[in-house]
Amino acid sequence: MKGFIIKDPNTLVLSELPNDSSDLVSTSKVRITKSLITLADLLRYRGEIETKDIVLGSSGIGVISETDSNLLDIEKGKHVYVDSKKECGKCFNCVNDKKWLCSDMLIAGEDYNGFLSDFISISPEKIYPLPESVSDFDALFIDQISLALTIIDKLNIQKGDYVSIIGANNFANILAQIMIYYQAVPIVASNNYEDIQNAKDCGIYYTLDEQANWQKEIAGITSGRMAQKVVYISDCDIPIQKAFSVASVNATVIYTGKTIKSSAVSFNQAVKKQLEISCINVGFGNISSSINLLANNAVNLSKLKLNTCKFDEIPAMFEKLSKEYDEKGYINETIVEMI
Ligand SMILES: [Zn+2]
Repeated sequence: MKGFIIKDPNTLVLSELPNDSSDLVSTSKVRITKSLITLADLLRYRGEIETKDIVLGSSGIGVISETDSNLLDIEKGKHVYVDSKKECGKCFNCVNDKKWLCSDMLIAGEDYNGFLSDFISISPEKIYPLPESVSDFDALFIDQISLALTIIDKLNIQKGDYVSIIGANNFANILAQIMIYYQAVPIVASNNYEDIQNAKDCGIYYTLDEQANWQKEIAGITSGRMAQKVVYISDCDIPIQKAFSVASVNATVIYTGKTIKSSAVSFNQAVKKQLEISCINVGFGNISSSINLLANNAVNLSKLKLNTCKFDEIPAMFEKLSKEYDEKGYINETIVEMI
């Protein structure tokens, strides 16, 4: 097994990886075929988010190359999605058989070796066989769909609900499309012109760009009620006050994003409006539902803004993305064709 490990900021080294499956009762080996480079990966590479000497990449798809012969449903050659989360096994909830409430969930590419490697060894319970109707490309976004479903659950989305989404990256487009599938009405706002165009291309009807007065427009769309449900995507670098400003009194505001950077935030408006703020950045327990949504074509991922590269081009791609980030303040996610 080999993968690109971060040694120092801006340095990736192709390294032999130890087989870290010794603590598992049963393991399967997966040949990674596709993985995704995200903004969080880039910020770790740049040293802007604290990281360990690990392989980056929090989403990966592959085929089973070795497996326990007792596991009849996971046969060799099968296309699979690999869960990017592991319970810590040590916290109060883990030791009391409530793993889904783990207070220290470990994430691939953050806490342990991620998917920018040729193979991984993993417990079979973390492997989800993909139906033929779900493409490997679509399956790469199961992690993001799962997060979207967790947010939708938390907001208790009902038919006709207006949901203001502040930020318009690929994840926002996925979230908005699933909201439409559940018959809610997303309003996507961003100060990035390209992202707003992309949201329109993805079929989002209400979009607000930098020129628009978001507060006024949302008042108009909601007949003065303002948004009772708001999702703020921290990765998009929009001041959170914008999210508070479009929220109604007692609204629920979800703070989400994969790039947790320190920031100073004033909660004045939030306190005045008595907002309920929840932080969600991991989708848990929704993988099968996410695969089902893809199988039902509930979300169209073909319009997402993406780069592509090959496995041996990963270091050069990180350099390129880093330059782009310096110039524009944002990047497109990159699909890595591993073989
Ligand atoms: Zn735990």
